Amino acid sequence: MILVTGGAGFIGANFVLDWLAQSDEPVVNLDKLTYAGNLENLGPLQDDPRHVFVRGDIADRALVARLLERYRPRAVVHFAAESHVDRSIQGAADFVQTNIVGTYALLEAVRAHWAALEPAERSAFRFLHVSTDEVYGSLEPGEPAFTETRRYEPNSPYSASKAASDHLVRAWHHTYGLPVLTTNCSNNYGPYQFPEKLIPLMIVHALADQPLPVYGDGLQVRDWLYVGDHCAAIRRVLEAGVPGEVYNIGGRQEKTNIEIVRTLCALLDEWRPRADGRSYATQITHVRDRPGHDRRYAIDARKIERELGWTPAETFDTGIRKTVRWYLDHPDWVARVQSGAYRQWVQTQYAAL
Ligand code: NAD
Repeated sequence: MILVTGGAGFIGANFVLDWLAQSDEPVVNLDKLTYAGNLENLGPLQDDPRHVFVRGDIADRALVARLLERYRPRAVVHFAAESHVDRSIQGAADFVQTNIVGTYALLEAVRAHWAALEPAERSAFRFLHVSTDEVYGSLEPGEPAFTETRRYEPNSPYSASKAASDHLVRAWHHTYGLPVLTTNCSNNYGPYQFPEKLIPLMIVHALADQPLPVYGDGLQVRDWLYVGDHCAAIRRVLEAGVPGEVYNIGGRQEKTNIEIVRTLCALLDEWRPRADGRSYATQITHVRDRPGHDRRYAIDARKIERELGWTPAETFDTGIRKTVRWYLDHPDWVARVQSGAYRQWVQTQYAAL
């Protein structure tokens, strides 16, 4: 048994689905079901006895303690977080609460449980903390990609809260000996991503004949990784990672935002042409840049490749085709996640369009 937090969100749900597709080891999935959590993502597991879903908060230490006591997982994989930079700029309270206070509460509950295990179980136990490359700050063009020893320079409330959680996890290893693993991954994309993030937002807006809002000049660079490759990397780190170590995960697929949007438009032009025959690219609208927007992120993933033998299976070209196809094939999922709450959010962001 493993305990996954945040397993109804984008990456967590992909991870749980992949996990149970590849092994019979059961999962207990603790998720608060915030706006970003969606049980529909786990639909294929509805009647699967290997998946136990618990709605609850990682900051609820007593609940986490009860789950640990009852299910006795051999590992915790911690995805639960507030994850959207724009929301963190509007208000950071939930980010501080879940990403920092929540991670602290989770670590404390896990530490108490772990300390009481038999020695063999204690040394086999793992706490895997899923984090982001955004903790490293912004790169200049031509600067080498982030390695695991890069100094932390978080610039947004989101990345600052994730940086704080990374430090707590590190300290729980150094101070208490908790066998932790930390992964810092680049931008993910793929099925089940909530349409507030760049790629699904653009697909959904394009199909709805709405403007495609590109921040500033659109030349911000991100290093994109298909979510299935991220999940495979996490499984590999859990299996073979060395406690106390950090592993950067990325696919060496640096792209500017505007390139991404143009690629999406070209695929949609091919697969779902607009009724009037014009390109979706005509919907692109440049909007005021995000405050403090980091210019470039890039991951140096040589450590996980060399030490754990992980490499991504997808390139951006193959992964983005799968992703666009998935959104085209799942209009019901898209319609349902665009609930009132989603619409309200989009309006606060892009009211001027
Ligand atoms: P997401 O926002 O799609 O999902 C987060 C999930 O956590 C949701 O299901 C939500 O309900 C749950 N959650 C939030 N607060 C909770 C709480 N207090 N208790 C229990 N559950 C709670 O996020 P995501 O994009 O899937 O990201 C997952 C993790 O991966 C995060 O830790 C994020 O920082 C990290 N990460 C994301 C990316 C990316 O590109 N999306 C890249 C690198 C790292």
